[in-house]
Amino acid sequence: MTAIRDFLRTFLLWELLLGLKLTGRNLFRRKVTIQYPEEKAPQSPRFRGLHALRRYPNGEERCIACKLCEAVCPALAITIESEEREDGQRRTTRYDIDLFKCIYCGFCEESCPVDSIVETRIHEYHMENRGENIMTKDRLLAVGDQYEKQLAADRAADARYR
Ligand code: SF4
Ligand code: SF4
Repeated sequence: MTAIRDFLRTFLLWELLLGLKLTGRNLFRRKVTIQYPEEKAPQSPRFRGLHALRRYPNGEERCIACKLCEAVCPALAITIESEEREDGQRRTTRYDIDLFKCIYCGFCEESCPVDSIVETRIHEYHMENRGENIMTKDRLLAVGDQYEKQLAADRAADARYR
């Protein structure tokens, strides 16, 4: 009996008809594909892209070199060195993130008590030369300075849902 049923299904191209039925059902539905990169998909304020270090509005670095982010990073991607400034405050002298090691888990961002290390919405970036995978403190601060408006807005939006 099974053999006859299989024969008839093969003879009548049953699987093909099932496939065409599915195609027909979705043919006139609203399309979910977009013309990337001209069109962009919506992003969450919690999007975890390229990292940045933020400053306070007066230009002071937020980071207090507590090294919580370094300790929590599961990929050991963060390297921090620090020293005490003349005014007695502790600040980093080195803050590197190895983007080749980073798994974009967001733990560094979550652990930071002063909202210093954050992940931006930037996901379209590449490296052309050896060593560019290391995001140094200067590069991280530069990203933070450039996108501060968006970063502050995303943090405020995120706080509303907590
Ligand atoms: S996102 Fe995760 S893996 Fe990347 S630096 Fe932060 S804690 Fe480490
Ligand atoms: S970025 Fe935040 S968690 Fe990391 S060392 Fe600086 S203050 Fe501490």
